[in-house]
Amino acid sequence: MDVQRKLEILADAAKYDASCASSGTEKRDSSDGKGLGSTAPGMGICHSYAPDGRCISLLKVLLTNACNYDCLYCVNRTSSNVPRARFTVDEVVKLTIDFYRRNYIEGLFLSSGIIRSADYTMEQVVRVARKLREEHHFRGYIHLKTIPEADDALIAEAGKYADRLSINIEMPLENSLTKLAPEKNVRAIRRTMGRLRLKLDEAKENHRTATQAKPARFAPAGQSTQMIIGADTASDKTILDTSANLYGSYRLRRVYYSAFSPIPDASRALPLVPPPLIREHRLYQADWLMRFYGFDAGEIVDEAEGMLPLDIDPKLAWALHHRDRFPLDVSTASREELLRVPGFGTKAVDRIIATRRLTSIRTADLARLHIPQKKALPFIVLSDHRPSLHLLEGAGLAERFKPKATQLGFGF
Ligand code: SF4
Repeated sequence: MDVQRKLEILADAAKYDASCASSGTEKRDSSDGKGLGSTAPGMGICHSYAPDGRCISLLKVLLTNACNYDCLYCVNRTSSNVPRARFTVDEVVKLTIDFYRRNYIEGLFLSSGIIRSADYTMEQVVRVARKLREEHHFRGYIHLKTIPEADDALIAEAGKYADRLSINIEMPLENSLTKLAPEKNVRAIRRTMGRLRLKLDEAKENHRTATQAKPARFAPAGQSTQMIIGADTASDKTILDTSANLYGSYRLRRVYYSAFSPIPDASRALPLVPPPLIREHRLYQADWLMRFYGFDAGEIVDEAEGMLPLDIDPKLAWALHHRDRFPLDVSTASREELLRVPGFGTKAVDRIIATRRLTSIRTADLARLHIPQKKALPFIVLSDHRPSLHLLEGAGLAERFKPKATQLGFGF
C-alpha cells in the first residue's frame, strides 16, 4: 500500500479525536539556523477545521488503525469492517517534515490503535517523536496519545519529546466504559493520569529551582483528555462532575468533549442517532465557566433536570435562575460578581475594573468592550442605565433570549 493511501486511511481514522488544541506550550523557534519549526505565537496550530467542524490543522494521524481492542464506539475496533493500514515510524517522520516544509502543518498529533501490547505500541509512538526531535531537530508542536498501561520509562520518554500528552477517559461513567470498552480499565487510565501529573509537577518544580540552564522537560503543554458524549446515558451534570474531578485530581489542561458519531455496523448497545452538536458546544461553554469564571459544576446544571439548556448558553441560564442577584451595579461589583453577568467575558471584566477607577461606565462603553447589550443590560446598572425590575422579574425575559421558532420546511 502506498503512503498516500495509508494517509487517507489513517488521517480519516484519527478525525474522531477532538483533543488537538496546541495552546500552552513553551516557545521554541529555529531563528538560530539550527533545527526546524517553531511554536511561536501567531503560529497556532489548530486553526483550520474539517467540514464536520473538527480541527485537522495538525498532521493528525494514527500510526495504525489496527487494534486489539473492541471498543464499541470506535470505528477502529477489532471487529470493525474498515480497511486497515499501518505507517512505519520513518513514514510518519517523513510526512511530518515534508508537510512542515510545505507549510501545510505546524505540528503532529499522533495516536495509535493498540497492536501487540501497550508497551510495543507506545514504543513505536515514542520512536516517531524521538526521531523528529533528535535526528531532524524538529521544534514544532508534538502531541502524543499515551497508552494507559505502558511502562513508566516509555511515558517519561514521551514527555521528554512531546509538548502535550493525553489519555482519553472516553466515558463519563465507569460502568459505561466497562460496557462499551470492555478491555479498557478506568483505574489504569486514572493511574496513568496520576503518574503524568506527578511528572508534570516534578518538571515544574525542577524549572523553578533549576541550577542548570536547561532542566529536563516533561510535556510543557501538560496533559488533556477526551470524553465521548451521547454514547451512553450520562447527563450533562454527570459529565461536568467528572470533568471537575479530572481537573482537580490530575490538573488537566483541557477536557475535550466529542459528540458521539454513529459508526458503520454499530453495536446495538449504541444509540442510533448522535446527540445534537449544540450539546457539545454547551458543554464547552460550561467547562469554560468552571475553569475561568469561578462556577462550580453543581451551580451550572440544574440538579433536577441534569441537562444544560440547548437554546441559551449556561451563564445566561444561571442568571435567569438567580435573578435575585441582579441588577448588579457595575461601578462597585466585585470581579467574581461581574464574571457572572451574561455577556461579560474575562477580558471585558478586567477592562471594566481598570476603567472604573478613572471614570464611570456608560451604556455606550459596552460596544467598545465587545459586550452584547441585549444580553447584559437587563442584569446591570450603569451610570446612565437602570434596568426595569418589571422586565428582570417578568416571565418574558427568558423568552427574549430564546431563538425565534421557525416553521419547518416541507423538504421539497
Ligand atoms: S483502543 Fe479502543 S478506542 Fe482506541 S483505537 Fe482501539 S478500539 Fe479504538
